[in-house]
Amino acid sequence: HLPNSLEARDVAYQLHAYTDARRHEETGPLVIEKGEGIYVEDNSGKRYIEAMAGLWSVAVGFGEKRLVEAATRQMEKLPFYHTFSHKTHGPSVELAEKLVSMAPVPMSKVYFTNSGSEANDTALKLIWYRSNALGQPERKKIISRMRGYHGVTVATASLTGLPNNHRSFDLPLPRILHTTSPHYRTMKKDGEDEAAFAKRCAQDLEDLILAEGPETIAAFFAEPVMGAGGVIVPPEGYWEAVQPVLKKYGILFVADEVICGFGRTGEMFGTTTFNLEPDMITLSKAISSSYLPISALMVNEAVYGPVADESHKIGVWGHGYTASGHPVAAAVALENIKIIEERDLVGHVKAISPLFQKRLKDLAASPLVIETRGIGLIGAAELTHGAFLDKPGALGALANGAFHARGLISRNMGDSMAFCPPLIISEAQINDLFDLAEAGIEDVSKGL
Ligand code: PLP
Repeated sequence: HLPNSLEARDVAYQLHAYTDARRHEETGPLVIEKGEGIYVEDNSGKRYIEAMAGLWSVAVGFGEKRLVEAATRQMEKLPFYHTFSHKTHGPSVELAEKLVSMAPVPMSKVYFTNSGSEANDTALKLIWYRSNALGQPERKKIISRMRGYHGVTVATASLTGLPNNHRSFDLPLPRILHTTSPHYRTMKKDGEDEAAFAKRCAQDLEDLILAEGPETIAAFFAEPVMGAGGVIVPPEGYWEAVQPVLKKYGILFVADEVICGFGRTGEMFGTTTFNLEPDMITLSKAISSSYLPISALMVNEAVYGPVADESHKIGVWGHGYTASGHPVAAAVALENIKIIEERDLVGHVKAISPLFQKRLKDLAASPLVIETRGIGLIGAAELTHGAFLDKPGALGALANGAFHARGLISRNMGDSMAFCPPLIISEAQINDLFDLAEAGIEDVSKGL
């Protein structure tokens, strides 16, 4: 890179998220300069289909002027105020009211945070606080699933069920446990069909609860569809089998809708798609199309009641972020939700997802693709390690490079190539996206 270029200065000064620092200079950063609709452009003028909507998040696409205007209006009026100690402001009130009104199951309160990690971290702390308020201090264990992704703070990296998030950090924390991932192909036992596998997942969960002692288990965290773990859509019957186990032992259910929320699965919430009955829901990403960082935790009365009960003596809820409910971020989220509703983007996803899912499935025609998975406007094509059996992820990295060369941004999670485009994508653009993906996989195949 030229000295003084953005690339060279990036290598010189920035430590990146999820990047191998030892190889950053050699790989080099890709500098994205601008975006419009489903496209982004790099600093050489090359255009890409952003098939990941950034990080599963830019629902209304890039360059949406209404969000810029909403931010500007609020910036001029009140650029910042907080929500500590009985203070509030219009945008946070309006957004809380809006979220409660659109919640897929009855919810009573909203707590604002700034990232998916913070929303889940807050959920976890609220669950612990509630157990203490109820006089059940032993009820603090939390169960999540292998391959689940819930964030990267010390506690949420513990909830996350991926080895890379644990290994180098001496995690998970004690009291955070993991049950079977719902990925049929890799987790099934000999002769087990999908229905039997779904039941066994619920049995594994119950066995873990019984082994630990039901009175010690406070909550279960899960994404309706796993995202970063490789886009794992649970097998049919999975949620029907798992939810009664939680109910049986009075275990709270936290639905992490950080990816699924706001239309991704073809309903406004994944909770509706899968008939879930969570006690708490966490939201982020598409809540503001990631134009500004904001996230939210919704809780039902069963959670909120004990927290607000006059009789507990555990002290004030000592938790809050300077930017909780940030007025500019909240104003942008409100406008973003308005756009999703006005343009009926959920109806749009319903209408175009059959094409998306068909083109995704067609990728399996390549001998390099071992499995495709998806629902709504989210999916993944898993590449077989093939010649790279000893190095999982190597083929995924190659495909990433081949996609880039062709003007397509996907994200390889190991060898699974994810697709999660902005919800505004058209049928013609879905065809463009998968034409490029097919060609990119063919390039990899030829190069082996
Ligand atoms: N939960 C889910 C389901 C996610 O996909 C993510 C991020 O990808 C998070 C939580 C963490 O969100 P953040 O990166 O904003 O902390």
